[in-house]
Amino acid sequence: MSAQIIDGKAFAATVREKVAGHVARLKEENGITPGLAVVLVGEDPASQVYVRSKGKQTVEVGMNSYEHKLDADTSEADLLALVDQLNNDPSVHGILVQLPLPGHLDEDLVINSIAPEKDVDGFHISNVGLLGTGQKSMVPCTPLGSLMMLRDHHGSLSGMDAVVIGRSNIVGKPMAQLLLGDSCTVTIAHSRTKDLPDVVRRADIVVAAVGRPEMVQGDWIKEGATVIDVGINRIERDGKNVLVGDVDFASTSQRAGAITPVPGGVGPMTIACLLANTVTACCRANGLAEPEGLTA
Ligand code: NAD
Repeated sequence: MSAQIIDGKAFAATVREKVAGHVARLKEENGITPGLAVVLVGEDPASQVYVRSKGKQTVEVGMNSYEHKLDADTSEADLLALVDQLNNDPSVHGILVQLPLPGHLDEDLVINSIAPEKDVDGFHISNVGLLGTGQKSMVPCTPLGSLMMLRDHHGSLSGMDAVVIGRSNIVGKPMAQLLLGDSCTVTIAHSRTKDLPDVVRRADIVVAAVGRPEMVQGDWIKEGATVIDVGINRIERDGKNVLVGDVDFASTSQRAGAITPVPGGVGPMTIACLLANTVTACCRANGLAEPEGLTA
């Protein structure tokens, strides 16, 4: 059996189209332009690429993009003052502080200083609590994108066995909460899990968010299962730098019913969901109806 490829690139384009349509309506009918502020501290090359890409896509869907680039030695007080200024700026509906922050800055403190309703990354403790209790929240972008693809592929996820490999705050845990919210039976596996292949073999849905290149093997996968590969790993192969996931695509695609590729799977959905969260935040801030199909 050869798995159906879940095309995240194409799916992300449809999400961006929906966002752009909603932004156009907000401008025309309400005179409001959603705005996303991205704060980058320091010169981490990967973060610079992400921030550029986020800014470009924000403008492409018709929203305002505000980029704040601060020196690597910026003090915590100055960063908190900028976040406070953005919290109080009515033209800013979404705030994202690019992680990781330089070591002298307390990431939890900074993230929790963002107004929860503008926290489009969904990392603020209030949003974590709201998601965990099934209330309306800002949902972290990568798990939200993964959920959208799963819903699109399966319709209802109710009653399915899901295994999430990885328990990070930005992917594994919120992913598990979202699957639970959609009535899956959820197992969270991690670095101390015993017999990981056996745990994964039970799953109708496998979400791999580990950060270990091609760790998940085809013979761990139940015939016909859906595999969402969140991993992004740069490795050298045959003298070239290539991007691979946490799943061994060659063997897994022989057993899975459907699989997201790397690149072109979860990756493009993450920024699309950031834009979706920004337009949702803008609607909520203005007491307007939220766009359908862009939130959990
Ligand atoms: P993390 O390092 O914070 O967490 C990794 C998790 O994997 C941990 O909970 C750990 O317990 C678990 N783990 C490690 N080794 C394991 C093993 N041998 N067996 C089972 N579990 C193991 O990573 P993260 O931030 O959650 O990211 C995970 C991956 O997803 C990375 O490759 C990252 O680059 C990628 N990622 C992609 C996107 C995207 O947009 N597609 C977004 C965020 C992260």
